Amino acid sequence: MKLAKFFEAKPGRSINLRKIDPDDTVGFKSKKQALAQLAENKKLLTELQYKLYAESKQSLLVVLQAMDAAGKDGVINHVMAPMNPQGCRVQGFKKPTPEERAHDFLWRVHKHAPKDGEVVIFNRSHYEDVLVVRVHDLAPKKIWSKRYGMINEFEKLLASNNTRIVKFFLHISKEEQLKRFKKRLDDPAKNWKISDSDYAERAYWDKYMDAFEDTISKCSTKHAPWYVIPANHKWFRNLAVSSILVETMRSMKMEIPEPSVDLDEIRKLADAAAEEA
Ligand code: AMP
Ligand code: MG
Repeated sequence: MKLAKFFEAKPGRSINLRKIDPDDTVGFKSKKQALAQLAENKKLLTELQYKLYAESKQSLLVVLQAMDAAGKDGVINHVMAPMNPQGCRVQGFKKPTPEERAHDFLWRVHKHAPKDGEVVIFNRSHYEDVLVVRVHDLAPKKIWSKRYGMINEFEKLLASNNTRIVKFFLHISKEEQLKRFKKRLDDPAKNWKISDSDYAERAYWDKYMDAFEDTISKCSTKHAPWYVIPANHKWFRNLAVSSILVETMRSMKMEIPEPSVDLDEIRKLADAAAEEA
């Protein structure tokens, strides 16, 4: 099954997250059943990223947004592991610094866009400026409401520069989030992940869902689609994201460049060197 088509938020249509089941695993019954495809995706991602890097004419931008504990870090770990660190990078976006705040909201983002041959993953992104900013009234509505259009134009600019953009919303349930927070509290190795605001933010869950629905509805475009990934099951989340990345990178049709040197000439030198040795 083509998971990309299945989970894509269709451009121009409004999305209702309450109708999308975060427990969905579209026919896969268990992690065990998914293992073979997970392994295959890993191998394919290695090959595809190698080609992207070698070709060095296009790039890939992966945007991750989600509620806390939905698995952004897990996805990054899973997706990056098969890739060569020379050609990929993760960029996180925290609360804007005073300097960032003194600029337009895309200023800090644009400079981290991928260059030719590169894969860049955004752990949070310019979308925070229509999510947390909207939910917490960090800017007036007349400011943030104009940003959807600006974001679409910005992503169009990147796309016209041969950057493929895929955006994932990792969709967990409020109950699953609570379970994961509890694990963070109980497991000393995970304590560091807890932040002051985690439980307090749960009071804003519905407001966040409204903000995500608007964002995905307005900003899922042909050149930069949003995918809503059921993420209550970590293995399925990884399977879906890696499958969509494989599909996306395949469709980019990268080509290993022709050698820039005369191989016959070099072979002669190689033969001579072998004889001498
Ligand atoms: P984390 O990714 O969990 O380390 O947390 C980063 C925090 O920065 C989150 O609470 C985000 O909502 C917040 N953040 C990221 N971008 C912005 C932004 N543009 N405006 C306000 N808060 C932001
Ligand atoms: Mg956090």
